[in-house]
Amino acid sequence: MADTNIKFQRVCHRDDPLYDKIVIELEERYKQSTISGDEWRFGNRVRLFYKGKELDNGLMHSDICITLEKLAEQIKLLEPLDSSNNNKQFDDICCQPGCAERGTRKYVFKKIFPSNSFTGAENVPDANGYTKGMVFCDAHGKRGNCGLTDADDNYICIEGNDWTSAPVEDAKRSQSAGPFIIGVEDLGSLVAEISDY
Ligand SMILES: [Zn+2]
Repeated sequence: MADTNIKFQRVCHRDDPLYDKIVIELEERYKQSTISGDEWRFGNRVRLFYKGKELDNGLMHSDICITLEKLAEQIKLLEPLDSSNNNKQFDDICCQPGCAERGTRKYVFKKIFPSNSFTGAENVPDANGYTKGMVFCDAHGKRGNCGLTDADDNYICIEGNDWTSAPVEDAKRSQSAGPFIIGVEDLGSLVAEISDY
């Protein structure tokens, strides 16, 4: 039974890569200067996307290894894009990493488990009365029974239908989430692969 009295605070999935699509394209320009002279210059235009929106872009060093290393350093400093960090623009969007569908099922956690522990802490409301949880689209409403924090048994459904009526995600759909998807944790190995090429 949905409990609409709970004040909901959307948090990102623990495995959310922060940006779910990163596009890097070579950009050229012809520099002209009466003082230093003219020449072609090159840089990498880096575009950062999340949930189908381009959130940021910038021109970085044209050496791809340096671009990726600097990008990884900068991304590691950022906080998740959710309402616990006063970012509410994705509050209605599914919390499944890589999915940009509108969330129709709102769940709050019973307990929150640290990544290195099987002992969870009760998910009590914060000082303003907000209780942490996640929202999912119909395709991602079923969460499974293997995880701890993100598991069917660890949720209370407060809006929409619960996981018992949700289909299991079609693998084809996940594969088409974007043309180039890398997680922050993948950047290190990607740099190593390119260095060996
Ligand atoms: Zn979804």
